[in-house]
Formats: sequence, C-alpha cells, structure tokens
Amino acid sequence: MPQIQIIDVTNRDGEQTARISLAKIQKTVINWLLDQMGVYQSEMGFPLSPHERNYINANYELMEPGPNGQEPLMKHIQLGGWSRALATDVEKAFQQTKIKHFNLSISTSEQMLRWKFREKFSEEDILKMVTDATQAAKAGGAITAGVNAEDASRTSLDFLIRFAQAGKEAGADRFRYCDTLGHDDPSTISERIGTIAREVEIPIELHCHNDLGLAVANSCAGAIAACEAGQDAYINTTVNGIGERAGNADLVSCILALRYASRWGKTNLLSNQIDLKKAWKIARYVAHAFGLEIPINQPGVGANAFAHESGIHADGALKDRHNYELYDYEVLGRGERQALPTGRVITTGIHGGASGLEYVYAQMDLGFRDGEHAREILYLVQCANLSTQAPLTEEELWLIYHYPDQVRKLLTLTP
Ligand SMILES: [Zn+2]
Repeated sequence: MPQIQIIDVTNRDGEQTARISLAKIQKTVINWLLDQMGVYQSEMGFPLSPHERNYINANYELMEPGPNGQEPLMKHIQLGGWSRALATDVEKAFQQTKIKHFNLSISTSEQMLRWKFREKFSEEDILKMVTDATQAAKAGGAITAGVNAEDASRTSLDFLIRFAQAGKEAGADRFRYCDTLGHDDPSTISERIGTIAREVEIPIELHCHNDLGLAVANSCAGAIAACEAGQDAYINTTVNGIGERAGNADLVSCILALRYASRWGKTNLLSNQIDLKKAWKIARYVAHAFGLEIPINQPGVGANAFAHESGIHADGALKDRHNYELYDYEVLGRGERQALPTGRVITTGIHGGASGLEYVYAQMDLGFRDGEHAREILYLVQCANLSTQAPLTEEELWLIYHYPDQVRKLLTLTP
C-alpha cells in the first residue's frame, strides 16, 4: 500500500522567510525534535552556504554513534539539503559537506522561464540540467535525490510529466511538485498529481504555499491523489506553517487533517511512525526559536484550540468533550499543568558563571566531573546563547552537555 510521509522543511523554506532566522543550535534541536516525532526527513538547509557547513557536518555526526559508544542523538530521520539543479552545485556540496540526501530545484513554468531566466534556457535545457544534477548526486553517493519543479502549479502538465520522467530516468527517487505561489486548489492539484503519478510512476512530494490559505488542503488532497494512483507521497511541512510570505503547509495541521478529516481520516495513509504527541513540544520550541508567538487559533497547538467560554459551548464541552472538540488535547501532548516560578530565578547564558551553571544543570539532574568539565560546558553555553539571542532552553542545554564536540563544531563560524 502506498503511504504518506512527512518531509519537514522548517530548517530550509521556513528559515528563508523574510525577517526571521535561526541559530544553528536551534536548527539542530528542530532536527532532533522532528526525529523524535517520527518525521521521515528534515530538509536541513543549504549545503552550498558556507555558514551551513559546520552545522550540516555536525548534524551528520549526531546521527552516528559517538567514539565511546555513545548513542546517536538522531536515530531515524534523514537529513536533506536543498540545491539548485546544477551538477556543479551538487559536486561542491559533496566537497564541502557530508550531505547524503538532496532536493534539486529548478523553475519549470513558462512565466519563470520567460521572465526570471529571461529565455536563457529552453525546456530542453531545463531537462538536461535536472538530468545532469541528478546523475551528479547519485554518482557522488547521494542516498536519495528528489527533483523539484519550482512553480509546478503554473507549469503545463505536459512539461511537468517530461520533467519528472527525466528525473526518474536519471535516478531520482521523488518528484517535488512545488505550488510555489500557492495558486492551486484541492481539486486541481488532485487531478494533476494523479495524472503525473499514473504517467510517470514516481513517488511525489507536495510542496504547497499558503497564499490562498489552501496549503494544508492542497498538500493532503495531492498526497492522497498520488497514493490513489499507486505512488507514495511526501508532504512538505513547516512547524507552525512558517514560510515565505503567507507560509507553508503547517506540520500539525497536515497530520490532524490526515488523521481526523471526514474522508481523509479514514484512508489511513499517513505513516504510523508519526507521533503526534510531540506536537505541543515542537510547536512551542519553534515559536520560541523564531521569536514568534503561536497564533491563539492555531489548529491543535494554539492557546484557544481547546478553550470554551460561550455558554452553550462550555456547557456542551463539560458534558462531553466530543460535543465541541474534534480530537482530544492529549493526542497532541497537551494537558499537563505548568508551574511558572514567581520567586528567585537562576539562568545561565552569555553572562553566566560556574555556580549558576552548576545550579541550572543540577535542576536537570546533570553534574560535572570536575572544574575543567564545567568550564568547557560554560563556554559552550555562552557561545550558544550568543548565537540564539534568546534564553537557552532545556533541550539546548541538554544537547550542549551530552554532545559538546558536535555543538562546538556547529557553533563555529569563520567569516
Ligand atoms: Zn517553498
């Protein structure tokens, strides 16, 4: 049976959003939380960007056992990189990083061929470029490579089929249908994806933007159409729907829609590896990392997603939760009471010293072997905080303590 998997692109498309960015340790925690959640792949960034190199290499090390038999931090997730569909870019990515999964992107629409590339490339040139880039990825040792048609929703179906076919013949594992401008609607995308899946017989990735508020609906409709045509589907999501302009398909909303929507919920196509119980944690971490509040009406994880005040609703919810709640808050990992300290608070970070550090780590049941060990961790804590410019979270402190060598590497930038 075909399946739907999630390829989360928070650390690539999410991060390339105007006005916001992430520190490399925050991107690492996001990869780690996605791994815990059972997400198939994280598109972790750009292997060709010099500032991403140490982060990418350190994260690949975090997927391997440590020198003293230490468990890998991340156990299942694939870490992928985005690259232009140019063989030269792919070759450079291999020289500079340990990247083993690629998505290779090039525009395919008439609009972009004419008005972005200014007719520098014909359709045949595009096919040759994607073929060469895919072959370079596979020849260089890529485990998976996807071919991305940018602006696919405004590209003729005939050319998209030829593009996906060229990718497949060159060894691509997936075809990414990019609704770059959020132009599709659920019925159109279903029809187009169904046709491509049947004609080319290649697994399909849905990459949908939210300019018309349809990113989640389009992603799910497209993924189901691919499965119904016999192909595996991969939905590109971002945590809290963060992304260019109006954003991408929200991770939690896509999972909820595929589990609870009236028809889609019955298809049982979403991979059962996905642990929705991690939703609350990852949504809050990513909101903190970007410095953005989760909207109160955000599906599943918003402050009001399970709030009732109006007389009839509160009465109904109290009599039976399913009167006014489609799914239970526990399935999202919600429901615990949280106590906020109102007295003394000790934090550690850029200004921290030994006593504060030891106190904070003792609250997490972690101690230090000796003064040298504490000084090593303290300096990493200071550097990490310098890069996050936000109070360090327990996940970040835990990562620094247990994987200091990889954290040192990913914090290292050489301008
Ligand atoms: Zn995008």
